[in-house]
Amino acid sequence: KRWSKTLSETPTIETEHAMFGRLVGLPSIPPDTEAALRSVLQGLMPWRKGPFQFGSIHLDTEWRSDLKWARMQAHLKLTDHRILDVGSGSGYHLWRMLEAGASEVLGIDPNLLFHYQFALVKHLLGNPRAASLPVTLEEFDAGILNFDTVFSMGVLYHRKDPINHLEQLKRWIKPGGQLILETLVIDGDEAACLLPPDRYARM
Ligand code: SAH
Repeated sequence: KRWSKTLSETPTIETEHAMFGRLVGLPSIPPDTEAALRSVLQGLMPWRKGPFQFGSIHLDTEWRSDLKWARMQAHLKLTDHRILDVGSGSGYHLWRMLEAGASEVLGIDPNLLFHYQFALVKHLLGNPRAASLPVTLEEFDAGILNFDTVFSMGVLYHRKDPINHLEQLKRWIKPGGQLILETLVIDGDEAACLLPPDRYARM
Protein backbone atom coordinates (compact mmCIF):
# COMPACT_ATOMS: atom_id res chain seq x y z
CA LYS A 1 0.00 0.00 0.00
CA ARG A 2 2.80 2.37 0.91
CA TRP A 3 4.60 1.75 -2.39
CA SER A 4 1.36 2.20 -4.40
CA LYS A 5 0.71 5.49 -2.64
CA THR A 6 4.29 6.60 -3.28
CA LEU A 7 4.01 5.72 -6.97
CA SER A 8 0.75 7.66 -7.29
CA GLU A 9 2.61 10.78 -6.16
CA THR A 10 4.93 10.71 -9.19
CA PRO A 11 5.01 14.14 -10.83
CA THR A 12 4.03 14.39 -14.49
CA ILE A 13 7.12 15.03 -16.56
CA GLU A 14 6.72 15.62 -20.29
CA THR A 15 9.83 14.55 -22.10
CA GLU A 16 10.94 13.59 -25.58
CA HIS A 17 14.32 12.30 -24.59
CA ALA A 18 15.05 9.24 -22.48
CA MET A 19 18.50 7.86 -21.79
CA PHE A 20 19.18 4.15 -22.20
CA GLY A 21 22.93 4.34 -21.82
CA ARG A 22 25.10 3.76 -18.77
CA LEU A 23 22.95 6.21 -16.85
CA VAL A 24 19.35 5.23 -17.53
CA GLY A 25 16.88 8.09 -17.07
CA LEU A 26 16.14 11.59 -18.30
CA PRO A 27 18.73 14.21 -19.27
CA SER A 28 16.68 17.03 -17.75
CA ILE A 29 13.50 17.52 -15.74
CA PRO A 30 11.63 20.74 -14.92
CA PRO A 31 13.11 22.23 -11.71
CA ASP A 32 9.65 22.41 -10.12
CA THR A 33 9.25 18.59 -10.32
CA GLU A 34 12.57 17.79 -8.67
CA ALA A 35 11.51 17.78 -5.02
CA ALA A 36 8.45 15.60 -5.69
CA LEU A 37 10.44 13.11 -7.76
CA ARG A 38 13.18 12.95 -5.16
CA SER A 39 10.61 12.10 -2.52
CA VAL A 40 9.06 9.33 -4.70
CA LEU A 41 12.51 7.84 -5.34
CA GLN A 42 13.21 7.87 -1.62
CA GLY A 43 9.84 6.28 -0.89
CA LEU A 44 10.85 3.29 -3.04
CA MET A 45 14.22 2.66 -1.38
CA PRO A 46 16.33 0.55 -1.26
CA TRP A 47 17.48 0.81 -4.88
CA ARG A 48 19.79 -2.12 -5.53
CA LYS A 49 20.39 -2.15 -9.30
CA GLY A 50 21.26 0.91 -11.36
CA PRO A 51 22.55 3.64 -11.78
CA PHE A 52 19.76 6.00 -12.85
CA GLN A 53 19.77 9.74 -13.45
CA PHE A 54 16.81 12.11 -13.68
CA GLY A 55 17.94 15.61 -14.47
CA SER A 56 20.21 16.63 -11.63
CA ILE A 57 19.07 13.72 -9.43
CA HIS A 58 21.68 10.97 -9.48
CA LEU A 59 20.36 7.67 -8.16
CA ASP A 60 23.48 6.04 -6.80
CA THR A 61 22.29 2.45 -6.43
CA GLU A 62 23.88 -0.18 -4.18
CA TRP A 63 25.16 -2.12 -7.19
CA ARG A 64 26.83 -0.77 -10.32
CA SER A 65 24.90 -2.93 -12.79
CA ASP A 66 26.46 -0.95 -15.63
CA LEU A 67 29.82 -2.62 -14.91
CA LYS A 68 28.43 -6.09 -15.55
CA TRP A 69 26.73 -4.86 -18.72
CA ALA A 70 29.93 -3.21 -19.94
CA ARG A 71 31.75 -6.54 -19.70
CA MET A 72 29.04 -8.39 -21.61
CA GLN A 73 27.96 -5.80 -24.17
CA ALA A 74 30.57 -6.57 -26.82
CA HIS A 75 29.52 -10.25 -26.88
CA LEU A 76 25.79 -9.69 -27.26
CA LYS A 77 23.70 -9.76 -30.43
CA LEU A 78 20.21 -8.58 -29.51
CA THR A 79 18.99 -6.69 -32.60
CA ASP A 80 15.20 -7.13 -33.01
CA HIS A 81 15.13 -9.77 -30.30
CA ARG A 82 12.22 -10.39 -27.99
CA ILE A 83 13.88 -10.92 -24.63
CA LEU A 84 13.06 -12.44 -21.26
CA ASP A 85 15.24 -11.34 -18.33
CA VAL A 86 14.93 -13.71 -15.38
CA GLY A 87 15.73 -12.00 -12.06
CA SER A 88 15.40 -8.53 -13.59
CA GLY A 89 15.48 -6.56 -10.31
CA SER A 90 14.66 -2.89 -10.88
CA GLY A 91 14.82 -3.52 -14.61
CA TYR A 92 18.05 -1.61 -15.21
CA HIS A 93 19.31 -4.19 -17.72
CA LEU A 94 15.96 -4.21 -19.57
CA TRP A 95 16.64 -0.63 -20.65
CA ARG A 96 20.16 -1.53 -21.71
CA MET A 97 18.73 -4.38 -23.82
CA LEU A 98 16.50 -1.89 -25.65
CA GLU A 99 19.57 0.30 -26.16
CA ALA A 100 21.27 -2.76 -27.71
CA GLY A 101 18.47 -3.07 -30.27
CA ALA A 102 15.96 -5.46 -28.66
CA SER A 103 12.39 -5.12 -29.98
CA GLU A 104 10.57 -6.07 -26.75
CA VAL A 105 11.80 -6.91 -23.27
CA LEU A 106 10.08 -8.60 -20.35
CA GLY A 107 11.56 -8.92 -16.87
CA ILE A 108 10.41 -11.32 -14.17
CA ASP A 109 11.39 -11.14 -10.51
CA PRO A 110 9.50 -12.24 -7.39
CA ASN A 111 10.48 -9.15 -5.37
CA LEU A 112 7.50 -6.76 -5.46
CA LEU A 113 9.38 -3.58 -4.57
CA PHE A 114 11.50 -3.93 -7.71
CA HIS A 115 8.32 -3.79 -9.83
CA TYR A 116 7.30 -0.51 -8.24
CA GLN A 117 10.75 0.80 -9.07
CA PHE A 118 10.44 -0.47 -12.62
CA ALA A 119 6.95 1.02 -12.95
CA LEU A 120 8.28 4.41 -11.86
CA VAL A 121 11.16 4.35 -14.34
CA LYS A 122 8.88 3.15 -17.13
CA HIS A 123 6.40 5.92 -16.37
CA LEU A 124 9.16 8.53 -16.54
CA LEU A 125 10.79 7.13 -19.68
CA GLY A 126 7.46 6.48 -21.35
CA ASN A 127 8.57 3.40 -23.28
CA PRO A 128 5.95 0.74 -24.08
CA ARG A 129 8.41 -1.92 -25.22
CA ALA A 130 9.47 -2.93 -21.71
CA ALA A 131 7.35 -4.72 -19.11
CA SER A 132 7.82 -6.65 -15.90
CA LEU A 133 5.92 -9.28 -13.92
CA PRO A 134 6.25 -10.11 -10.21
CA VAL A 135 6.70 -13.86 -10.55
CA THR A 136 9.46 -16.42 -10.17
CA LEU A 137 10.73 -18.33 -13.18
CA GLU A 138 8.95 -21.40 -11.79
CA GLU A 139 5.60 -19.57 -11.66
CA PHE A 140 6.03 -17.80 -14.98
CA ASP A 141 3.69 -19.01 -17.69
CA ALA A 142 3.78 -17.19 -20.99
CA GLY A 143 1.62 -19.71 -22.83
CA ILE A 144 2.85 -20.05 -26.40
CA LEU A 145 5.09 -17.01 -26.14
CA ASN A 146 8.78 -17.70 -26.66
CA PHE A 147 11.89 -15.57 -26.74
CA ASP A 148 14.86 -15.04 -29.05
CA THR A 149 17.06 -14.48 -26.01
CA VAL A 150 16.63 -15.43 -22.38
CA PHE A 151 18.91 -13.85 -19.77
CA SER A 152 19.69 -15.28 -16.36
CA MET A 153 22.22 -13.09 -14.62
CA GLY A 154 23.19 -13.44 -10.99
CA VAL A 155 20.39 -15.91 -10.24
CA LEU A 156 21.77 -19.43 -10.68
CA TYR A 157 23.82 -19.43 -7.48
CA HIS A 158 20.75 -18.40 -5.47
CA ARG A 159 18.82 -21.47 -6.59
CA LYS A 160 18.71 -24.65 -4.50
CA ASP A 161 18.34 -26.70 -7.67
CA PRO A 162 20.49 -25.09 -10.38
CA ILE A 163 19.84 -27.86 -12.92
CA ASN A 164 16.11 -27.29 -12.61
CA HIS A 165 16.72 -23.55 -13.13
CA LEU A 166 18.50 -24.32 -16.42
CA GLU A 167 15.67 -26.60 -17.54
CA GLN A 168 13.09 -23.93 -16.73
CA LEU A 169 15.08 -21.34 -18.69
CA LYS A 170 15.21 -23.62 -21.72
CA ARG A 171 11.41 -23.85 -21.86
CA TRP A 172 11.14 -20.20 -22.94
CA ILE A 173 13.87 -20.09 -25.58
CA LYS A 174 12.62 -20.50 -29.11
CA PRO A 175 14.36 -23.02 -31.39
CA GLY A 176 17.69 -21.50 -32.43
CA GLY A 177 17.43 -18.84 -29.73
CA GLN A 178 20.08 -18.08 -27.17
CA LEU A 179 20.59 -18.19 -23.41
CA ILE A 180 22.83 -15.62 -21.77
CA LEU A 181 23.84 -17.14 -18.46
CA GLU A 182 25.91 -15.07 -16.05
CA THR A 183 27.05 -16.74 -12.87
CA LEU A 184 30.06 -17.59 -10.75
CA VAL A 185 32.49 -20.08 -12.21
CA ILE A 186 35.41 -22.09 -10.88
CA ASP A 187 38.47 -23.27 -12.75
CA GLY A 188 38.40 -26.93 -13.63
CA ASP A 189 37.31 -29.50 -16.18
CA GLU A 190 33.72 -30.49 -16.89
CA ALA A 191 33.53 -32.73 -13.86
CA ALA A 192 34.74 -30.09 -11.40
CA CYS A 193 31.89 -29.26 -9.08
CA LEU A 194 31.60 -27.19 -5.94
CA LEU A 195 29.13 -28.21 -3.24
CA PRO A 196 29.74 -25.84 -0.33
CA PRO A 197 28.32 -27.07 3.00
CA ASP A 198 26.89 -23.67 3.90
CA ARG A 199 25.84 -20.38 2.36
CA TYR A 200 28.23 -17.65 1.33
CA ALA A 201 26.92 -14.08 0.87
CA ARG A 202 23.36 -15.52 0.81
CA MET A 203 24.19 -17.68 -2.18
N1 SAH B 1 19.88 -9.85 -12.99
C1 SAH B 1 20.31 -8.78 -12.09
C2 SAH B 1 19.92 -9.04 -10.64
C3 SAH B 1 20.62 -10.21 -9.95
S1 SAH B 1 20.13 -10.38 -8.24
C4 SAH B 1 21.78 -8.57 -12.24
O1 SAH B 1 22.45 -9.37 -12.87
O2 SAH B 1 22.31 -7.58 -11.71
C5 SAH B 1 19.12 -11.82 -8.34
C6 SAH B 1 17.66 -11.51 -8.61
O3 SAH B 1 17.00 -12.73 -8.90
C7 SAH B 1 16.94 -10.88 -7.43
O4 SAH B 1 16.32 -9.68 -7.84
C8 SAH B 1 15.94 -11.94 -7.00
O5 SAH B 1 14.72 -11.38 -6.51
C9 SAH B 1 15.72 -12.71 -8.31
N2 SAH B 1 15.29 -14.11 -8.16
C10 SAH B 1 15.58 -14.97 -7.17
N3 SAH B 1 14.99 -16.15 -7.37
C11 SAH B 1 14.31 -16.05 -8.55
C12 SAH B 1 13.47 -16.94 -9.31
N4 SAH B 1 13.24 -18.17 -8.86
N5 SAH B 1 12.93 -16.51 -10.46
C13 SAH B 1 13.18 -15.24 -10.90
N6 SAH B 1 13.96 -14.36 -10.21
C14 SAH B 1 14.51 -14.75 -9.06
